[in-house]
This record gives sequence, structure tokens and C-alpha cells, in this order.
Amino acid sequence: MNSLLSTAPAAPMRVVDVIRKKRDGQELSRAEIESLIEGYTRGTIPDYQVAAWLMAGVLRGFTRQETAALTEAMLHSGEVLDLSEFSPKKVDKHSTGGVGDKTSLVLAPVVAAGGLLVPMISGRGLGHTGGTLDKLESIPGFNVHLSLAEFRRVLRGCGCSMMGQTEEIAPADRKLYALRDVTATVESIPLITASIMSKKLAGGADALVLDVKCGPTAFMKTQADATTLAQSMVDVGTAHGMQIRALITRMDAPLGWAIGNALEVMESVEILRGEHGDSELAQMSFRLAAEMLIMGGAAKTLPEARALVEASIRNGSALETMRRFVALNGGDIRALDDFTRLPQAGEVVDIRADRDGFLAGIDGRALGLLAMDLGAGRRNQTDRLDLGVGLRVSARVGQKVAKGDLLFQVHAQTGTPIVPDLYLATLQWSTAPQPVRPWLLATIGC
Ligand code: URA
Repeated sequence: MNSLLSTAPAAPMRVVDVIRKKRDGQELSRAEIESLIEGYTRGTIPDYQVAAWLMAGVLRGFTRQETAALTEAMLHSGEVLDLSEFSPKKVDKHSTGGVGDKTSLVLAPVVAAGGLLVPMISGRGLGHTGGTLDKLESIPGFNVHLSLAEFRRVLRGCGCSMMGQTEEIAPADRKLYALRDVTATVESIPLITASIMSKKLAGGADALVLDVKCGPTAFMKTQADATTLAQSMVDVGTAHGMQIRALITRMDAPLGWAIGNALEVMESVEILRGEHGDSELAQMSFRLAAEMLIMGGAAKTLPEARALVEASIRNGSALETMRRFVALNGGDIRALDDFTRLPQAGEVVDIRADRDGFLAGIDGRALGLLAMDLGAGRRNQTDRLDLGVGLRVSARVGQKVAKGDLLFQVHAQTGTPIVPDLYLATLQWSTAPQPVRPWLLATIGC
């Protein structure tokens, strides 16, 4: 039995014909794509037909026109936030997912302290990657379940606001992403473009900075693929009048020392306090913030924007904005000064080097999965997290290591079996120092 596509003109279109057309490598019309997305969102087209269509699309590809039509259909499957009552420019950032990536927690208060507004629709962690909302929930009392009115109130009160994807915003993406996740249809540049850009366009920002991760543990394994994805998202954003710029960044080792929710909040606050300023995490967060400040008109050049970022750290205004943000969401601001008020692990187990040598690589994905096994991440969407557990990663690529040096600290619940070899197996060694590749590989867009 095949569902009928709803808005068919003269002769009704059948879903099976749309699937067949894509299977045979033909381009779908805007009307066909709109009907498919509308029917799926309303529940009149079943998962199995959409799964077949998705797989046909992954194998056959989608044209630029199809990608644009798909993004628009997903965008208009729900509400589009209108933030025009706020006069400062609204700038957002999106990352395609990394291990230990807590740049949002650093850059949002920095950019808000620079006079712009940062409305962010944020996500939950899944698999080896973490999610901003889970990290925020590790602050006692912090409420991420905001209504749209509360989201606006927080934005007005401190210049930045974060909430989860609601039923109202891009509902088609919620359903489609869940289906893609279990049908091996995530890895498609057009589908990723439509998924990310439909949410970002619905979020009401004027400008967007994209951090497109590239490397063995990212969706995009090669710089060529990462560039194609970045260009595809830049094209769609530009066509909608959005100012958009993409940074292609290396993703292999974890970003920063912390993996795990409360630990990542601690590291973000340390950076806002002015610590670890030379770290890759700080440098990446500051660069993304600087790009946002330029796009929002708060600075004209990169050096000017960098000076604004550094001033907000030095004079404490970024940390103060973080405090207001936490307070406005009902969180305990004392936890930002006294980390013992954040969730804690039952025990901390040191993992030390079993040899002398130079660190040539660290497998961030494997460490993300080990942290997930401790309870810091979800294997399934419904898993409950243990917000206090995770990893402190002291190992750094390029570092000279002596046998017995501390490489990891595992923050685990008491009694969790810890197998040091699993952590040591995430390291690649060399006998001579290896050059450390820069984290910023390229920039694309305005
Ligand atoms: N992140 C998204 O939001 N969607 C994708 O398809 C992939 C990464």
C-alpha cells in the first residue's frame, strides 16, 4: 500500500513513484520534495517509505536545487523564530560535532559581552559526541527546557540564550534525523546541509558561523568533503539572505582537557577566567567568537575582533555574562566559583604512560566512546547521563612522554571497572617529534 502525496496537482503523485524516481537517479521537483516532507511530518507517510527514499538519495545524490528545496520544506515544517524585536544583530554558531567541543559555552558569553545577541538552538549528546544542553544541565538548577517566551527573556537579560530543538522548530528534522540515525543515512552532504540549515534558518539569527569538522572521527573525513559540505551550507544560507561563513577545522584529538559534562563546564569557566589562553580550545573559541563579532558588525577586522574578545576575558565581562546567563536559567552561580558544587565522580583513576616516546596522535572518537561507557554520553537517545563522570586528558599530540607520566584521569562512579590498556590504546606513538598540524584548515564564505 502506498500513501498518496497530499498536495498533488492534477494526477496524484504516489510516494513509491518518488522513491523510484530517486532510485533511478532523476531529479525530484520542488513539489515532490515538499509533499514528501509534509506527509512525513504529519505522519501520513510511513518511516519505511521515507527510509527507502533516504537511502536512494544517499546512493544517487541530490542536486543543488533538490538540496535547496529540501532545506526549505524542512524549515517550513514548523515555526520560524522572529527575533526582529531585538535591535542588535543576532549571530549564531554551529559545529558539526566533536569530542570535548565546548566552544559554545565559551563564545556565547564572549560575543554577548561584545554587544551582540547569541540565540542558540542547541543539542543533546549522542554516541561519542557531547551536547551543550547536557553540559549546562550539570550546573545545579539550570533549566534548559525553556518556552519561546523564556528563551527571549534570557536573551534580553544577558545577550545569549540556549534551548533545545522544540516540537515547533523544524519538526521534520527531528523525525528525519532519528530515522537517518538508524538507517545508515546520516553521511550525505545534501541531507546534512538540509538538516543543519533548516534548524539554523528557523532559529532567527541574522548571521551564522559554521565550524565544519574534518578528520577521521568527524562526519567529513577529508578536507575536500568538508569543503563541499561547508560550501553547500554557505550557498543555502546565502540564498536565504543569511550572512554565513564556515571554518574547516581539524578533528582528531579531543578539544581541550575535559570530556564529560560537569568537567567541560569547569574547563569553559576556566577559559572565561583567563586560564589556558594558549590552548587549542581557547584559540578556536576566540577565533569563532571573533568571526561572529565581525559578522555582527561589532568589529571590522580580525585583529579588532580579537582585541574585543581578549578585553572581555581580561575585564571579566564575559565571565559576568556567563553568571547572568546561568542565573537567568535558574542555575546556581556559586558553582562557577566553587566547582565542588558541580556533580562529582565517586573516584578518580590515574592512567600513566607505559613507555617513553612522542605522542603522534590521540583517537578522540575512542576516548569519546570510553567516556560514554562511563556514563558521560548516550548510546541511545533515552539513556540517562551521569553528569559528574568523564575524562581529564593530559596527553597532548606532539608531547614528549616518559614512562610513568600522567596521561589521563578517569572520573568514574565508585567501583566502575577501569581497564588502563583501553585508554593507552587510543594513543599513537613515534620515536621522534611529529609536527602538530594547525587546527584551522580553511575558511569559506563572506
Ligand atoms: N548534525 C545535524 O544537525 N544534522 C546532520 O545531519 C548531521 C549533523
